[in-house]
Amino acid sequence: MERARSIVEAILTEITSRIEKQTRSHHVVDEFVREELHAIDDRIMLDFSHASVPPTYFQRIRETIGPDIIDDLEQNISGPLGRKKRERLHPLYKKLAVLIEHMRFFRQKVYTLYNDYERMKKIQAELVESQIGFVHEAEHYEQEVRKCEFLIDIVLKPFEEAMKQIVRFLEADHLEVFLFDDDQLLATELKTDGKTIAYHKIDEKPHHPEAVHEAVLHEIQEISLDMPLMVEGVQIGHVRVSRALTGGLSKEQWKEDVAWIAPVLARIIQGNRDRVLARKVYIDDLTQLYNKRKLNEQMGKLFNRFKQGEKELYIAMIDIDRFKNLNDTYGHTVGDEILRRSAAIIKEEVPYAYRYGGEEFAAVFYGYNREQTQHIMERLRRRIEQTTFTIDGHNYTISISAGIARFETYMHSVMDAINRADAALYLSKEDGRNRCTYYEDVKDRLTADVAQLRQELLRMKEQVAQYDRLQQENLRLAEELERERRKQRKTKHGILHEQES
Ligand code: GH3
Ligand code: MG
Ligand code: MG
Repeated sequence: MERARSIVEAILTEITSRIEKQTRSHHVVDEFVREELHAIDDRIMLDFSHASVPPTYFQRIRETIGPDIIDDLEQNISGPLGRKKRERLHPLYKKLAVLIEHMRFFRQKVYTLYNDYERMKKIQAELVESQIGFVHEAEHYEQEVRKCEFLIDIVLKPFEEAMKQIVRFLEADHLEVFLFDDDQLLATELKTDGKTIAYHKIDEKPHHPEAVHEAVLHEIQEISLDMPLMVEGVQIGHVRVSRALTGGLSKEQWKEDVAWIAPVLARIIQGNRDRVLARKVYIDDLTQLYNKRKLNEQMGKLFNRFKQGEKELYIAMIDIDRFKNLNDTYGHTVGDEILRRSAAIIKEEVPYAYRYGGEEFAAVFYGYNREQTQHIMERLRRRIEQTTFTIDGHNYTISISAGIARFETYMHSVMDAINRADAALYLSKEDGRNRCTYYEDVKDRLTADVAQLRQELLRMKEQVAQYDRLQQENLRLAEELERERRKQRKTKHGILHEQES
């Protein structure tokens, strides 16, 4: 930029100095004028070499000096006495003619000079105009170069340092990054003022705003710009850049100055996402699905949102049928591979998938109604049933059972719904497996089951009590018997004794 400016300044100085030089170089002008004036003088000398004044000159003299004065001079000039007067007037007319011709010459000169001057001014303006365009272009390129240098610099820096540097480069006060998990739910906030960096998990801030999906400019005490972070068409979160409101700040200009950072940031963050989201803790190694810990955390968030909003929330518990058999027959390696592949299918079919433990999975549906949820679960069940898993040339098929439950606003905890889904899953198994059971459809049966169980329990308690009573009775009888025996033995002994003595 400095280079471009100095070039233009040099050009302008050159133009100005040339103009000045032209006006200042009197001697050149003198030389040039003197020659022309001599030529005029010579011509007049020649024209006035006859006794009479040439009519063109006379006419010009009359017009210039004024007809009344000339007419006065001309009186009595043609008489006998006039000859003398005419002789005396001749040099006067000649002098006047010289002056008038000089004046005409100068007037002409001024007119031409003025035209030249105007033309020059126009050329100068055009030149300046084109140079300004050049400066703008050069400024633009220099800015791009600066950006590129900056980018190369931050790419080589550790992630946190890069973030801090971006704040300083943008001359911003704060940079906040809100990151989605893979499930499009806000998970982490990262904030920096260019000196320090802070991470917050979004759960710790329950009133946090939803992520933005297009650029939004805010202006209160500070001006801030929210921009979505996109990587290959997928939104991974959003970024907010803010700075204090200052006098001469044009917000549109500022927006333009800042907006280019969003795609860069998206890239940098994408490369560090696992670290920023502390994600490894949440991923199941075998299936690469989210684990139970993640389900618990995420269900907490979704449950709150569900309670405040209009959307429905469902959970399905999924369990592979007779998986122990498969393991026992074909070995754990086959079991593991089938778990992995069926997890991949589950992930493809349901909105949010988790490995709950062992051969059990959970699926969560937020913003889906009952029909949609059941439809997706049924499609998943059928797809698993119809899939042939080929491992080392051998074919295996499996089936799954599932229980589905809806979250209700009166529920106190996530477990209330999970327990219902589990109960429904239990009935799927009881009804022969390879099926999906919706809790509401079987809750009467479940309560009937519970009632039946309670009845059975009572009966068993009664039986136990009866058994206890019988035991007591037996014990009492046994004791009585023992006493009786002892008594009899004693009597028998007495009789023997009597007989001996
Ligand atoms: P059901 O139809 O009643 O669900 O029968 P099931 O045999 O699937 O049920 P059960 O809970 O008795 O057995 C689950 C089995 O899943 C036990 C274990 O052998 C197997 N399993 C659990 N986790 C893993 C794993 O990570 N890898 C492998 N290969 N097997 C696992
Ligand atoms: Mg199981
Ligand atoms: Mg099972």
